[in-house]
Amino acid sequence: MTSILQAFYSTRSSLNWRSLGLVSALLLSACGGGPRDQTLEFFALGTEVSVSLYAVNERQAEDASEQLQSYFTRVGHDWYPWNPGELRAINIAIELQEPADVSPRLAAIIRRAAQIERLSNNRFNAGLGHLTERWGLHMLGDEPPSKPNINEVAKLLAQALGVTSIRWIDDRIVGAPSGLMLDLGGIAKGAILEDSVQILQSLDIENAIVNIGGDLTVIGDVNGRPASIGIRSPTEETPFATIDVAAGETIVTSGDYERFVEIDGARYSHILNPRTGYPVEHTSAVTVIHTDAMLADAAATALMVGGPAEFDQLASALEVEFALLIDASGDLRLTPAMDLRLKWLD
Ligand code: AMP
Ligand code: MG
Repeated sequence: MTSILQAFYSTRSSLNWRSLGLVSALLLSACGGGPRDQTLEFFALGTEVSVSLYAVNERQAEDASEQLQSYFTRVGHDWYPWNPGELRAINIAIELQEPADVSPRLAAIIRRAAQIERLSNNRFNAGLGHLTERWGLHMLGDEPPSKPNINEVAKLLAQALGVTSIRWIDDRIVGAPSGLMLDLGGIAKGAILEDSVQILQSLDIENAIVNIGGDLTVIGDVNGRPASIGIRSPTEETPFATIDVAAGETIVTSGDYERFVEIDGARYSHILNPRTGYPVEHTSAVTVIHTDAMLADAAATALMVGGPAEFDQLASALEVEFALLIDASGDLRLTPAMDLRLKWLD
């Protein structure tokens, strides 16, 4: 444990550390002065999307709104395996053991998922769709999910292998285990943040924050200052620390506090351990900052799986400099660089 953390503990003994499992990123200083600052808000991908645009003209704001919403609608279909669209078609082809042509962007995301699977030693695995579906993590049906038995879990896990087992010829999948089902839920948000930045930059928007349910990327700055993001416990309402997120950086939080499934009264994380097929229990939340949004997203998921025991080793294997983990009992782990960057609040 770090010195700052110890200081934090000793000065805040009254805080309920378990509740810090309820961490999420809270935007503090996005609402700068000028009349041309605009915020777009919409609901997409099952969450609130908020895009703050600084010093933009009316035309830029309108184009951004139109292009972003149509982009989010498209990927909500094409990259979500339970909606009709490209990823579902790919998964069906895999199940039928047929080749599948993949669009260049989606192929790049799947290949990146495979790379992070390798680097994380299978803590990140985007091929477990049959298991995430069976655990009811995506709350697809009207019926509450039932807990799968140990044999069922073992069988689904053994059949899935991983995204690294997909064979490609260019952007065509020519071979994959039939039990593999792509579920890009752990990395897609990073890709969507990347694409959103591209859309805004193509409209010559130089300063903006794209915020998808608390995971966000900063373009430029906020009226000359870096974006100050609060790390908070929702039960406390006020953040316990802030961090300046620089131009080009993405901050992502994975956790069991917002998204979980309830089976027979018990609460399960929506993140599965690919080695066991069971939901993660040892860790409540992980926050990662990185200039590579897809890596930030996937790394937060991988670090949730690795937990405190693998935190240092995994962060270094994934080349993640800035990460914070809160374990199930509320204890924190920080990378040294994150420790230096975090500003603890009184
Ligand atoms: P995130 O909120 O980015 O941590 O992503 C969680 C989502 O990723 C889940 O809802 C699943 O769709 C998927 N997922 C669950 N466990 C894993 C895992 N070990 N590796 C990759 N994706 C996962
Ligand atoms: Mg993720």
